[in-house]
Amino acid sequence: MTTFGHREFAGHERVIFVADSATGLRAIIALHDRTLGPAVGGCRVYPYASEDDALADVLRLSKGMTYKNALAGLPFGGGKSVIIADPSAKTPALIHAFGRAIDELQGQYWTGEDVNFGAHEVEILAERTPYLLGRAKGATNTGDPSPFTARGVFAGMKGALEHVFGTLDLVGRRVAIQGAGNVGFNLAKLITKAGGEVVVADVRAESAERAARELGATVVAGDAIYDQDCDVFAPCAMGATISDQTISRLKARIVCGAANNQLASADAGTLLRERGIAYAPDYVVNAGGIINAFGDFTGHYDVEDVTRKVDAIGETVNEILKSAEESGRRSHEVADAMAEAILAAARQQSTHRKP
Ligand code: NAD
Repeated sequence: MTTFGHREFAGHERVIFVADSATGLRAIIALHDRTLGPAVGGCRVYPYASEDDALADVLRLSKGMTYKNALAGLPFGGGKSVIIADPSAKTPALIHAFGRAIDELQGQYWTGEDVNFGAHEVEILAERTPYLLGRAKGATNTGDPSPFTARGVFAGMKGALEHVFGTLDLVGRRVAIQGAGNVGFNLAKLITKAGGEVVVADVRAESAERAARELGATVVAGDAIYDQDCDVFAPCAMGATISDQTISRLKARIVCGAANNQLASADAGTLLRERGIAYAPDYVVNAGGIINAFGDFTGHYDVEDVTRKVDAIGETVNEILKSAEESGRRSHEVADAMAEAILAAARQQSTHRKP
């Protein structure tokens, strides 16, 4: 039985449960807030232990998308969808059934890639609905968002460096990157090009070796990335890596990376603050991909406009860290409050506009 005791539920506009007995599809689509525009957020496929776990995840993620889009300055609301299934069960028929559910919402919700739901699945979805973002490279879209995500993380890093060290210069700075995948590698490239030094760890040896070979990065094994002498720790692999255990090992003054949900708990945010480590909130710095997808969404992609918006992440991070320091609040709380203020202003404006 699904319970509705979730703290996040009340803040949502609509939560839709989708079931299709012919294909075995079980999915939840959450539309958190459409004050700024259509609800936008990817689709995740995961074998959740229960519908309750899936609901908790989709509610948390869709709210996060509202905040992320607001702070990125995009005319998008927040939404997310989850398909409760083993990734191996994603048959085209199941994806088509999900596509019909998306299509019925007639553009209230737009979706795209997320965990276990990649470009291939999005193209199958496209056979049933046009309400898709970040599609494979083609006439109207730019494809892989990772270089833009990396550019946004790099901009955020410079904003944080300026706050902490008074200069955004990368020369002489050392950055420890956890995960040299699509975003991590592109980030390492930007850092080394700007004169910084990079140390990487990746569970896939070939990814780390590529960064060493092509960029001159130092490679360390797995967990040793937490112990590196560095100015910035950049989580670019998976979430929840910033915890009591890892924070006590960090020597960096800044945490700034692409991974989603980096803080293992809100307490981790407190501990970072107590240890004098500036945390650039994950959803603020990893918005480059969605900003680029917005460029595609407009139908008149303008690379200058996209890069200007991505680079503005640096100023946003700088403002958040400054405000956190002045107010004694945790930086992720400051970011949430800024997003809430943007939404409140937009709601007020639309109320004024009504007769
Ligand atoms: P990716 O799969 O290309 O790269 C992740 C890398 O991390 C892989 O090379 C993997 O081997 C490595 N890895 C996994 N576990 C590790 C561990 N314990 N220690 C070290 N390395 C490990 O993914 P990506 O597209 O580069 O995304 C990186 C992160 O950023 C993810 O958390 C993703 O959700 C987030 N993100 C990505 C984008 C984007 O545009 N790609 C946008 C927003 C957020």
